[in-house]
Amino acid sequence: MAQLADAFARPIEYLRISVTDKCNLRCVYCMPEGGLPWLRRDEILSYEEIAQIVEASASVGVRSIRLTGGEPLLRRHLERLVSMLARVPGIEDLALSTNGLLLEEQLEGLVAAGLRRVNISLDTLRPDRFESIARRPGLDRVLASIEAAIARGLEPVKINCVVMRGRNDDEVAEFAELSRRLPVAVRFIEAMPVLEYAQAQREEYVCADEVLASIRRIADLEPVDGPRGNGPARYFAFPGAPGTIGVITPLSHDYCDRCNRIRLTADGRLRLCLFGNHHVDLRTLLRAGATREEIAATLARSMAIKPERHHLRLGEPASRMRALSEIGG
Ligand code: SAM
Ligand code: SF4
Repeated sequence: MAQLADAFARPIEYLRISVTDKCNLRCVYCMPEGGLPWLRRDEILSYEEIAQIVEASASVGVRSIRLTGGEPLLRRHLERLVSMLARVPGIEDLALSTNGLLLEEQLEGLVAAGLRRVNISLDTLRPDRFESIARRPGLDRVLASIEAAIARGLEPVKINCVVMRGRNDDEVAEFAELSRRLPVAVRFIEAMPVLEYAQAQREEYVCADEVLASIRRIADLEPVDGPRGNGPARYFAFPGAPGTIGVITPLSHDYCDRCNRIRLTADGRLRLCLFGNHHVDLRTLLRAGATREEIAATLARSMAIKPERHHLRLGEPASRMRALSEIGG
């Protein structure tokens, strides 16, 4: 069977799919307070169209799928899509990234449909701060979802925390302590400069090395293998802890040389890199009646425009940076 590989001989096995551009939060580093110019319903891929793209992707070696957004759990009956994708031959790993607000109530249906693991975003453990970072309330619901995901036996449960100086960097130790109490992977992420956050990001940037140094002041950390997944995180653990601690460093140590991923936007564009404008319109192809083989051939051809690396640097002009929620973060 063919294996997608780009012009730099990187095998591409991982497809992140944005199922909606909409969100019920407005995290300061991700989405403007007033939202984005939302896509019309007819612009968004149907579940059947997404499944066709996943089938074509699996036929050329994609093995892992992550559903993301926007907030994926806002899309009605997401469990229907999960069950369609869980049945695609060749797909070995099906995961979800969510802000957790709606996870507890949807968890049973998603797991029954075939979901096996989740990443839950959480930047603060304090309710007032939650409202200032996410610009909506909801901390209780996120914490309840984390507990529910652990209790339901999802493995691994990853908690993603974007660290920002002056907003939540003083909570790093508390987050790290979660890994001593719970079987979770707590992952600290360097904030990337997107849209209107680009200016603030220059002032609020915290390098992951600084995060690790502050955790090492609590106790020793040993490097460990990460939990299952396709992420670029480097992992550590407190000795004997049930959980792990990870850092994701798009700025301080990029991981482009190991990039194994492509992204599908909610409106059906295949994006070859998180940044830059390298994309291919799969929706038009699909709606013109393309076969699975034709879509697979387009995927293979699109490898030629996957760039070698992003050129994201601290202070990159905001105009170059699309929000992750727009491009299937
Ligand atoms: N709404 C879901 C969530 O928040 O998990 C899924 C989509 S969100 C775009 C996916 C991940 O991207 C989240 O963990 C979020 O924290 C992260 N993210 C968004 N904007 C970011 C930025 N500017 N820098 C770093 N991470 C960012
Ligand atoms: Fe919504 Fe996720 Fe972006 Fe926050 S990070 S605004 S939850 S899409």
